[in-house]
Amino acid sequence: MAKMYYEKDCDLAKLDGKKITIIGYGSQGHAHALNLKESGCDVCVGLRQGSRHWAEAEAAGLQVKTVAEAAKWGDVIMMLVNDEVQAAVYQADIAPNLEAGNALMFAHGFNIHFKQIVPPADVDVLMIAPKGPGHTVRSTYVNGKGVPCLLAVEQNATGKAYDIGLAYAAGIGGARGGVMETTFQDETETDLFGEQAVLCGGVVELMKLGFETLVEAGYAPENAYFECIHEMKLIIDLINKGGVAAMNYSISDTAEFGEYVSGSRVLPYEETKKNMKAVLRDIQDGVFAGKWIAENKNGRTFFNAKRAQLAKHPMETVGAELRRNMLWGEDTDLDTASN
Ligand code: NDP
Ligand code: MG
Ligand code: MG
Repeated sequence: MAKMYYEKDCDLAKLDGKKITIIGYGSQGHAHALNLKESGCDVCVGLRQGSRHWAEAEAAGLQVKTVAEAAKWGDVIMMLVNDEVQAAVYQADIAPNLEAGNALMFAHGFNIHFKQIVPPADVDVLMIAPKGPGHTVRSTYVNGKGVPCLLAVEQNATGKAYDIGLAYAAGIGGARGGVMETTFQDETETDLFGEQAVLCGGVVELMKLGFETLVEAGYAPENAYFECIHEMKLIIDLINKGGVAAMNYSISDTAEFGEYVSGSRVLPYEETKKNMKAVLRDIQDGVFAGKWIAENKNGRTFFNAKRAQLAKHPMETVGAELRRNMLWGEDTDLDTASN
């Protein structure tokens, strides 16, 4: 069993007197900065000159500095810029401003695990990785809950890396949900696998194929949207609350029978497992990381083409129209432009 920590195991006071710098103010950055500030921590946000988030962070009552100045100011520096630019930002503005005894933190292990960033031996290197989107890290904190986190320590130069990590997890509300101890390697590999095979890659492909199958058979696209896309969240909410059993309890027995009869027709067990293992192998061997690093060096042609293609898919256009007309309107709370 993995080691779990909860609020009672974390001492927020371990951050007393420490200056915490949050680099980036996107999905995770805004949530960490605001949650820590409201937990009583001394926080500063580091942004590039001209950042469209500069005024927003200041309006929220946070002090903002350039990345280099913020890195110099902070004792604990949390790296919350996009993974693919972290190495360049680190080299240019963070490495020159790191001091012995500082803590360099991450919310995902990619750059440390794949050695894109190699910090000096005299700083702590650790990770608090919320297992949920940044906007949820914020909204759950505001509601007195939190998003569970993973904790990993790569370098414990000061001997206090665990204290800092656990205090930080408490400060962002994660310890209310639970903090699981892991390693940079395990976090990186499982995170990439989860998002590729199941959460993002798997789910989007499944919904898209379901939508297309119904539309190609002559059913209304709106109907296909409700059935294959809108309902996904309602089903997932039930599973999230009480496991698959709670979902099966709530759906009809007809639906549950269909689940047993057709689920494995759509995702044939042996073949799907074989494909998932191949995806995992590419992650473990660094093949996926190599592709992603190259894609960024080559101007993201594949990435941008896929994104543009998906935006035109009827499941997106029909969905946007339906959501706009729902009584409560489309949820515009998401800062989608930065993701
Ligand atoms: P976002 O894309 O939402 O935000 C990125 C931030 O980085 C923005 O503030 C952006 O600046 C800034 N930035 C981008 N490029 C540069 C640059 N060259 N120099 C300085 N600042 C720059 O990132 P996420 O919050 O999604 O991801 C941050 C980290 O959190 C990643 O390691 C990710 O893997 C991890 N993570 C993310 C999750 C999520 O929910 N999205 C979940 C768990 C972990 P500007 O303000 O100028 O736009
Ligand atoms: Mg991820
Ligand atoms: Mg139904």
